[in-house]
Amino acid sequence: MVMELREKLEILADAAKYDASCASSGTEKRDSRDGGLGSTEGMGICHAYAPDGRCISLLKVLLTNACVFDCAYCINRASSNVRRARFSVREIVGLTLDFYRRNYIEGLFLSSGIIRSPDYTMEQIVRVARELREVHGFKGYIHLKTIPDASPELLAEAGRHADRLSINVELPRAESLKALAPEKDGRAIRVAMAGLRMRIEEAREAQGEAARVKVAMGGGRRAVAPRFAPAGQSTQMIVGADASTDAVILDTSSALYGSYRLKRVYFSAYSPIPDASAVLPPVAPPLVREHRLYQADWLLRFYGFSAPEVMAGGEGGMLDLEVDPKLAWALKHRAAFPVDVNRAEREMLLRVPGLGAKTVDRIVAARRVRSFRMADLARLRVNLRKVAPFVTAVDHHPRAGLLDRADLRALLLPRDGLAERAGVAAAGMLARPVQLPLFGGAHV
Ligand code: SF4
Repeated sequence: MVMELREKLEILADAAKYDASCASSGTEKRDSRDGGLGSTEGMGICHAYAPDGRCISLLKVLLTNACVFDCAYCINRASSNVRRARFSVREIVGLTLDFYRRNYIEGLFLSSGIIRSPDYTMEQIVRVARELREVHGFKGYIHLKTIPDASPELLAEAGRHADRLSINVELPRAESLKALAPEKDGRAIRVAMAGLRMRIEEAREAQGEAARVKVAMGGGRRAVAPRFAPAGQSTQMIVGADASTDAVILDTSSALYGSYRLKRVYFSAYSPIPDASAVLPPVAPPLVREHRLYQADWLLRFYGFSAPEVMAGGEGGMLDLEVDPKLAWALKHRAAFPVDVNRAEREMLLRVPGLGAKTVDRIVAARRVRSFRMADLARLRVNLRKVAPFVTAVDHHPRAGLLDRADLRALLLPRDGLAERAGVAAAGMLARPVQLPLFGGAHV
């Protein structure tokens, strides 16, 4: 019996590794000192990142890898020749509590193949979250993958128990979804995402109102307002399973952020699967493509770039794989540089290759009281080799003609691509499906 559970865990944790949408930041604060089991911190202490940037502190499993759908790109599709397993609700609840008490995890990420029907599957997923919260007082992080065709009542209950909900759009274009996952309904996915957005916003407004009432009444008892997925919703797109360019992927991603107020759009490089359909590419896209898309996504969300601006750094609708998208943009817009670190607007400093958003904020704050020299940038751990052609400082002006040199790009190519990738990964921007073993040394 013990071995059987472990075997299931091996199969179902491994099957979950293809889902990139796993990060536990941005939820509300909960503290088990108020009673119950487990705690989260609003600023995301409830997560840890592997060297590749992936959140590893959640028990990330499928309820089952058996599925009645037959999506061509999926290892768990109905026609796939893989070993199948299925947890009972009790087993997942027991594992989550057991691993939590052993300090292996800080929460649960639960997804599933479609068992019988979307409603039946969603009902099982919701039961896990309900039992954890209501029977065991579990206050750790819960991320539930949502089945878009499930009834609105089930989605509503999922949001009451979960910190984050996600629905995968799967592919960047509706035509690709139709061709590769004909049983999925792109419209139903969007409708479900819109429904989640509405409920998330309603809950936030109600929470805000409750907090205002509490302040108006001079504190006292905690304000009670309905909760609904306080860490918001996210989605995932597979990269490289269809012919969509990076431009199409970023356009879709921008539209999703705008329409559904998503917390994150995750990208997952397509992994070739055994006995794959002939319509799928035989090899995986280069990992660096997924990496560049995450960097581009960062530019859209935190650096004031639009998708067309980011794509202007690439060629033929694809991002430059050799250099990061901000450097690629700057190399094609050299007339906008050099930028004076002591006088430039924050928006322009954000466009300087090698200056991250936090560094820019530190520069803007510090230059109020002193003028910046290159040594000051070095103290902020700025890569001077990368930044130097694009900025001026009290003691620095780029050599005449440097910005016009035909070989500037070659001069700025990363000397160590791996080191660059590691840096980006450490910032949580790289999300290759690498699952760490959850049960090494455990006795389950
Ligand atoms: S519905 Fe999900 S689990 Fe089932 S085949 Fe499609 S992608 Fe795979």
